[in-house]
Amino acid sequence: MTAASTNSPDDRPRIVVLGSLNMDMVLRVPHMPVAGETLLGRDLRYVPGGKGGNQAVSCARQGAQVRLLSCVGNDAYGEQLLASLRADGIDVSHVMHAGDAATGVAVISVDDAGQNQIVVLAGANQRLSVAEDLLERLLRDARFVVLQFETPLAEVAKALRIARKVSCKVALNPSPMQAIAPSWWGSIDVLVVNETEAAALSGLAVQDVQQAAIAAQQLFARGVAQVVVTLGANGAVACDAHGARWHEALKVQAVDSTAAGDTFLGALAVQLAGGATLDAATQWAMRAASICVTRAGAQPSIPTAQEVEQLTR
Ligand code: ATP
Repeated sequence: MTAASTNSPDDRPRIVVLGSLNMDMVLRVPHMPVAGETLLGRDLRYVPGGKGGNQAVSCARQGAQVRLLSCVGNDAYGEQLLASLRADGIDVSHVMHAGDAATGVAVISVDDAGQNQIVVLAGANQRLSVAEDLLERLLRDARFVVLQFETPLAEVAKALRIARKVSCKVALNPSPMQAIAPSWWGSIDVLVVNETEAAALSGLAVQDVQQAAIAAQQLFARGVAQVVVTLGANGAVACDAHGARWHEALKVQAVDSTAAGDTFLGALAVQLAGGATLDAATQWAMRAASICVTRAGAQPSIPTAQEVEQLTR
């Protein structure tokens, strides 16, 4: 009897995520407080989060081989965040440690309707600085680099430039919203924005599916290959050279929308890296995100590919 080979090549798509790590302090509240209001919260939990960490976890749980470029402080939160990412099989060997800044934190209020309100203290995330040669080596080896705006924009610009040089595809989620430099548009392969970001970037109102489709086409016209506008419970609009298409969301009982967008982006990137069409990837990503909103917290709520598969049967 011959033993099965343990040396089979790892054909999982390789994805580099450059972004933030935060310890989320999640407060459950009956409703969002208005200015001057004092509110009694129900409980407080510490949950691994940050857009970079969340998107890395989503990519890993969807079956990608993930390397994360990020920065934490020399403190207990940083160690806890890295341990949690390692447990998902994410390569954190290039995550930096800032000696003089604390690990990023986010104070998140979640109300009874599952809506959230988030205040982020960036801390060590603002110290992220990746050496050009390291970034080039990692991106040369990856199919996608996933970027957001919770780390210095100079690092995002560097990653865009190097990705173009080594033909690594770029997925960008410009959140928290900041303007996208005109020279960047043509280097973005997939732009994923929610309604607020779509409105801010396009200068158009985005309050329904039709307006989202018009905004998506306007953003596509700036040189991005594929645009997706996510619309919460209303699903998403996917747009490319064939025009804009609306995909309806699954009907679920939402308890906490934290990380829905990050789950969506990670799942979308892995699907596209595996050769799926934009429409198929969008539908898969919506299913993944719909599972995320039925669970509390950021990284603990992100589903695996098997869970998405079971949902679609
Ligand atoms: P967040 O900032 O809360 O992570 P976001 O604003 O970036 O989210 P959304 O557009 O709210 O992104 O949600 C992303 C995707 O998650 C949607 O396209 C949809 O597929 C799914 N989703 C979000 N909310 C719901 C919901 N209530 N029911 C079903 N699916 C949802």
